Amino acid sequence: MNRIIACTLSLVTFFCMPASAQKTVKITALGGKSFCGFSLKSGFYNIGGTREYITREAVKGDNSGIPDVIQEIKNTLNFSVPIKVFIAAEEDNCFASIGENGVRMIIADQLFLNKVNKSTGTQWAAISIIAHEVGHHIAGFNRYTSQLKSELDADYWSGYILKKLGANQEAAVKCILYYGTDYDTSSHPNKRARAATIRQGWNDAVKGSYDPSRCESCSDN
Ligand SMILES: [Zn+2]
Repeated sequence: MNRIIACTLSLVTFFCMPASAQKTVKITALGGKSFCGFSLKSGFYNIGGTREYITREAVKGDNSGIPDVIQEIKNTLNFSVPIKVFIAAEEDNCFASIGENGVRMIIADQLFLNKVNKSTGTQWAAISIIAHEVGHHIAGFNRYTSQLKSELDADYWSGYILKKLGANQEAAVKCILYYGTDYDTSSHPNKRARAATIRQGWNDAVKGSYDPSRCESCSDN
């Protein structure tokens, strides 16, 4: 638990990206399909096609704290699939995708996550977004015709992960209740359905079990 507190606190440190460390990451949604992101402007949304981001790759011990949060999540779940973490500058979003050559990645804007924590009043909010994005990598992208089902799978894992990391149930749903929509969108379910699924994951973690239908690769890990 102490480690998680340290990670979340480090999310509020000032971040400066030296020009020499920057690189452009080009991301193309596989097969023309979309991938999941979250921003203050658009809430949870889908991104399609190809986009380029100015980023730096974050490593263990990075001052953003984000790779350490992701590693803690992976350790907690015994999920060993590599995920590259990139810190984006002034993108105001956080999202998960599979890039060229099948590289799994999460791209996050650290200052943006700080804003989310501030607006919701809990440092679990940023972690719940990161956990949702890790959840997409656990659940698998676009397994269903309906993107909404993929989003609920990621929400399930967000709830499961937050309980495992020590969040109470209300902290686990706070971000989605704050930023979610009252209605289904073309990409994401309404916030009541999403909060209910997060609670389901949280409750399953209490029971020490998980729903295997929520996972594409559980048997491989
Ligand atoms: Zn998502």
